[in-house]
Amino acid sequence: MSFSQFGDKFTQHSGISRLMEDMGEGLRTSGTIMLGGGNPAQIPAMNDYFNQLLMQMHQDGQLSEALCNYDGPRGKALLLDALAKMLREELGWPLTAQNIALTNGSQSAFFYLFNLFAGRRADGSKKRVLFPLAPEYLGYADAGLEEDLFVSAKPNIELLPEGQFKYHVDFDHLPLNDDVGLICVSRPTNPTGNVITDDELLQLDALAQQHGVPLLIDNAYGVPFPGIIFSEARPLWNPNTILCMSLSKLGLPGARCGIIVADESTITAIGNMNGIISLAPGSIGPAIANEMIVRGDLLRLSQEVIKPFYQAKVSETIAILRRYLPEDRCLIHKPEGAIFLWLWFRDLPISTETLYQRLKARGVLMVPGHFFFPGLEHEWPHTHQCMRMNYVPDAEKIERAVQILAEELEAAFKN
Ligand code: PLP
Repeated sequence: MSFSQFGDKFTQHSGISRLMEDMGEGLRTSGTIMLGGGNPAQIPAMNDYFNQLLMQMHQDGQLSEALCNYDGPRGKALLLDALAKMLREELGWPLTAQNIALTNGSQSAFFYLFNLFAGRRADGSKKRVLFPLAPEYLGYADAGLEEDLFVSAKPNIELLPEGQFKYHVDFDHLPLNDDVGLICVSRPTNPTGNVITDDELLQLDALAQQHGVPLLIDNAYGVPFPGIIFSEARPLWNPNTILCMSLSKLGLPGARCGIIVADESTITAIGNMNGIISLAPGSIGPAIANEMIVRGDLLRLSQEVIKPFYQAKVSETIAILRRYLPEDRCLIHKPEGAIFLWLWFRDLPISTETLYQRLKARGVLMVPGHFFFPGLEHEWPHTHQCMRMNYVPDAEKIERAVQILAEELEAAFKN
């Protein structure tokens, strides 16, 4: 079969497709310990809540109402109104429903937004997306219609007590040139669990406004929902920012519901793109989210159930890691949010790609670090010294995986 250029680009073997294949294979192979993917936890209290909510929505006819009708191209109007009101009241942002559009998962929102603001312009110029701090989310890497759509910057590294470290934006070397059409940052960050500070965010906001480009903040894990954030961080929105949110990390990745909050002209553009590409976003996730807002449960459960669950889990996992891996073998990025730990093996004599293969052969899946530097133009050894692990599985599984990791590291250092 011969494909178009578009076909060739989107059927190539991307980092994300290899990861998804490994995850699928791992799921089918019994005994594999999956610390690789981005699946959120099955939190019993949330699962019970969703089961009951769905039963009640079924009885009230809300589910069949959602299933049997198309929404408009910006998504379920009831939810757009409810979200605007909630964000106005909670955060004081001057929003109306005209500032919000829904997509089938936030992943598709990035595809829309990257290609809306970057790529070839009518005047022949080409704009790119700047990730001001790499490592960044692997899922961005292949979402450009054009090649070389991304540019990113190495971070400054702050060493912290207890074998931890934290990345910071290196404002002195930010490649914010005329060819940048959009700045994008995940906060909290997948893969590192970093939360860029309020000061860093405000500086990025100021730079974006000075350069006349939007600042996209990917808030898939952040506040006010799902609330998987353990440091103090003030959320930011103004008409030059584009805030992306998602229902996935609340525990509803199958609902495929992404939320974009932006100025009205961007939202109108997204509505038009939705209309062309999918007629309308799916309705079930938005119906559930709307009902959660109406009942006052969305923010309450984020604060009272989801955040404490992940906070306890991350502490437990760090304690396990430290039982097997001393600080001189493994540094851990300060866990400030999201559902991953980012491990740095500073003097590792093999690449983390090789380590990944060795772990996979022993039934442990983690993701080697080099996938998480989309747009980094210069070779940097650090990219081959890090690994991402999901800390959501049961403690026994994590312990078994960490034992195997420690053995493989020992073997690598010995040889
Ligand atoms: N942004 C980040 C940082 C993520 O980690 C993910 C998924 O893991 C997404 C966005 C996409 O989520 P979804 O398309 O399920 O909304």
